[in-house]
Amino acid sequence: METEKKDIKSYTLPELTKELEELGEKRFRAAQIFDWLHKRQVTDFACMTNLPETLRKRLQEVYSLVVLREVKRLSSAQDETVKFLFALPDDKVIESVFMKYKHGNSVCISSQAGCRMGCRFCASTLGGLERNLLPSEMLEQIYRIQELTGERVSHVVVMGTGEPMDNYDNLVRFLRLLTAEQGQGMSIRNITVSTCGIVENIRRFAEEGLPVTLALSLHAPDDIVRRRLMPVANRYPLEEVLAACDDYFEKTGRRITYEYSLVAEENDTKEEAEKLGRLLHGRNCHVNLIPVNPVKERAYRQSSFKNVLNFRKTLEKYNINVTIRRELGADIGAACGQLRKSHLDSVSGTESKEGEGYE
Ligand code: SAH
Repeated sequence: METEKKDIKSYTLPELTKELEELGEKRFRAAQIFDWLHKRQVTDFACMTNLPETLRKRLQEVYSLVVLREVKRLSSAQDETVKFLFALPDDKVIESVFMKYKHGNSVCISSQAGCRMGCRFCASTLGGLERNLLPSEMLEQIYRIQELTGERVSHVVVMGTGEPMDNYDNLVRFLRLLTAEQGQGMSIRNITVSTCGIVENIRRFAEEGLPVTLALSLHAPDDIVRRRLMPVANRYPLEEVLAACDDYFEKTGRRITYEYSLVAEENDTKEEAEKLGRLLHGRNCHVNLIPVNPVKERAYRQSSFKNVLNFRKTLEKYNINVTIRRELGADIGAACGQLRKSHLDSVSGTESKEGEGYE
């Protein structure tokens, strides 16, 4: 049996240098290869024309070069949002979204194929977790989108399918590679990582020297409501989650974004807004209100626009910075795992396997 090839795109430059030394090659070859992989973002060893032919052949034998394949593309007619369905090397599918803003181009990437967190309103978790994505597979979503759109991506949000803090080591490695000067060189300030609140990993993350914006999926002002919407809340009480976020802010100086998806009659009353206001009052943070996107497998309904506005007004009374998320690509089902889900349904008529994580 062929031994598995090593994933060359997931090595940092110091690691790649060691690899090349072990192959009996000069150190500078690593920098050349890293440049091809992460700056020029080529899809074939044969493109690496400043390497001797023999080395290119050797690389081909020892390493795999992960490249995502475009399966489907949906372009919004309303704005310039483009949603991509990509196939991984093992043919599992993931989705990524390209969005244009005044401040630059942003890509929303997936961190796992599927998800095991089981949030009640989310389409990404309906089939459970298939597997973690490798650092190379997270990077590739950005590299391929740059190639396919011809546009430079300046911002990344890890807010697609999956729970990034449930794929911690690969997430951290991905962030180091994405921000490496010798590669894409993305500014750490332009990256947001969204989590449902896995406390011990938020605390670890604060120590990594990777001060990205942390977005915390709150969705409730107390544990009772939160547990109804998010099974992960059974494992981590709100108090611990907020303490970990405070710690993240203290260590990184980055203001936390609290995400709050408004679901009619679940978490959108005046009392709940007041409670949230009291909870977050005095914290240097930002609240992002998201009218929940209806998912056909779920009975949840979006809050009325009036309720959304009232909710914001109440929070502002507590001097909290609030935005209402602008919906981009609403016409292409751009929200939260819906494209991948409909693709999986169409190929296999999949059964729903609820998040096995924290029930
Ligand atoms: N697992 C991570 C990141 C992926 S989800 C997290 O939980 O943060 C990104 C954001 O979209 C989260 O805030 C999530 O709760 C929210 N979300 C998921 N499904 C949604 C839906 N149908 N409507 C509105 N927001 C949703």
